[in-house]
Amino acid sequence: MYELKVITNFSAAHQLREFEGACEDLHGHNWKVEIYVTSETLTEAGIVVDFRVLKKHVKTIMAGLDHKFLNDLDAFKDENPSSENIARYVAEQLSSLLKAPGIKVSRVAAWESETACATYYP
Ligand SMILES: [Zn+2]
Repeated sequence: MYELKVITNFSAAHQLREFEGACEDLHGHNWKVEIYVTSETLTEAGIVVDFRVLKKHVKTIMAGLDHKFLNDLDAFKDENPSSENIARYVAEQLSSLLKAPGIKVSRVAAWESETACATYYP
């Protein structure tokens, strides 16, 4: 199994509904997002997927999150924009953008601080 990883960032505000604690109030984070894709096979060029293609898709997804109030986005209308749900959202978006055969988004980790991270395994 081959695994690629890209790391990206975005800054946004959120507010967690039904949450008793500091995250209930409006505030922001600088999220670090780690994205892993896997494949059992390589292309003829000996790669899983061109990093430029992968990063282009990741950039598109980040553009939809960066400097936004996440609660206002359609994706988080009915569920909290928690780091857990953000990780799942990024995984689902990337899965739908990545068309190369055999490639799977295997893990997305969303760091909301230096020491706190939520990971989603599709
Ligand atoms: Zn928060």
